[in-house]
Amino acid sequence: MRSLWHFTIMLFGAVIAITLFFSSAATAQNTIRDAEIESLMRQFSDPLFTAAGLNTSSVDIYIINDKTMNAFVTRGQKMFLHTGIILQAETPNELKGVIAHETAHISGGHLARSSDAISKASRPMILTMGLGVLAAVAGEPQAAMALLNSASQFGTLTFFTHSRIQEASADQAAANFLETSGQSGKGLIKFYERFRFQEVMSGARRFPYFRTHPLSSDRIDSLAIEVNAAKYADALDNKQEIFALEMVKAKIIGFLDKPQRVFLQYPQTDQSLPAKYARAIAYYQEASTKQALEKIAELIELQPENPYFNELYGQVLFESGKSKQAVYYHQKSVDLAPASPLLHLNLAQALVATNTPENLKLAKEHLDFVIRYEPGNSFAWYQVSILHEKAGEFGLAKLATAEQAYAMHDYFRALSFAGRAKQDLQPNTPQWRRANDILLVIAADPQIRKYMRSSKGKGGH
Ligand SMILES: [Zn+2]
Repeated sequence: MRSLWHFTIMLFGAVIAITLFFSSAATAQNTIRDAEIESLMRQFSDPLFTAAGLNTSSVDIYIINDKTMNAFVTRGQKMFLHTGIILQAETPNELKGVIAHETAHISGGHLARSSDAISKASRPMILTMGLGVLAAVAGEPQAAMALLNSASQFGTLTFFTHSRIQEASADQAAANFLETSGQSGKGLIKFYERFRFQEVMSGARRFPYFRTHPLSSDRIDSLAIEVNAAKYADALDNKQEIFALEMVKAKIIGFLDKPQRVFLQYPQTDQSLPAKYARAIAYYQEASTKQALEKIAELIELQPENPYFNELYGQVLFESGKSKQAVYYHQKSVDLAPASPLLHLNLAQALVATNTPENLKLAKEHLDFVIRYEPGNSFAWYQVSILHEKAGEFGLAKLATAEQAYAMHDYFRALSFAGRAKQDLQPNTPQWRRANDILLVIAADPQIRKYMRSSKGKGGH
């Protein structure tokens, strides 16, 4: 009798597990790109990746523009963080705890299958490049699309509901990674504690994070014993990181919430730097250029060495048609954070817009830098094509357009431009061979052929 009862419970459990698995299938996601946010997430994650024995440069971090609280990993060592989970984290240590737990899913091989199908649905958006850029290329629908697409697209994801065993082992490993990197695991406990009430809720009512990472009080309790006994249990977040996280939250809210809401959340009475930052961005978002510039200038005065204040100031100038002045501030942002491809990209864009031979040459150097790190950055290729066009190098301009189209998975356009580039370019030069390679790759890759067949009918080019 007892064993039959046991069997029934097991069967019931299996049914629930299967239902959860299928109910959490997700649609395609919108990623956002931003030098400041990406840099901080790297700063938080890299020590944990290293502690897990992962190669930091082979783990990709994507920020998804989604206010729901979620974080997950997929095959190919990709970690996804919703803006919602960044906003929900009360301290850097909490966010690091969540990242450590996700890192453990990567190193433990608890990975969701992301569909390998090529998808156009995801549209990475560069935060600091706002509406003004779209306006600047109005009348060029292809170019406007390029602004919103890049090769960091991925297919529709099927979320993977981790088992309780995987969850417990990910917690143990997370505690270990935090300890190895000299950090406390208390943030992760605190994060779980705040959401302990989710344990008793039905699957559909839980936050997405706790649908795929089921919480249990037992697990929190056993993790707490381990964390409290650890050598670095009382290690505190440093001031720089606390501040940087508050600034990133202000930026996310400033860019992604409606200006009226930003002014409510960060009222004038709040004179902290994050509040000033959020309000300055909100002015920029509502196209109050004069106020935006005033407020950002104030921020630069307070922190002249902040690359992101300089970037933002440059961007507002650029979008109000002052590309020459914009160059100065973008150059400053690059000087202050020379390793960031996105800052080089903004600088290059401003240089290209000034349209002087020296600046076009300088722009090319910065774009080469961007493409070395991000070969699939379609916006960088778009800038390369404009630059060659302006210099009268039409074969190279066509090749860059082919690259841009290839990065956007627009293979029909890539074929057309690579073919035309080949006609213009000197045979057997590296550029000619690259054009030829694009033609060959598209012709030979069965997945691309399949994608092209399916998108033809939908007018996807
Ligand atoms: Zn988990």
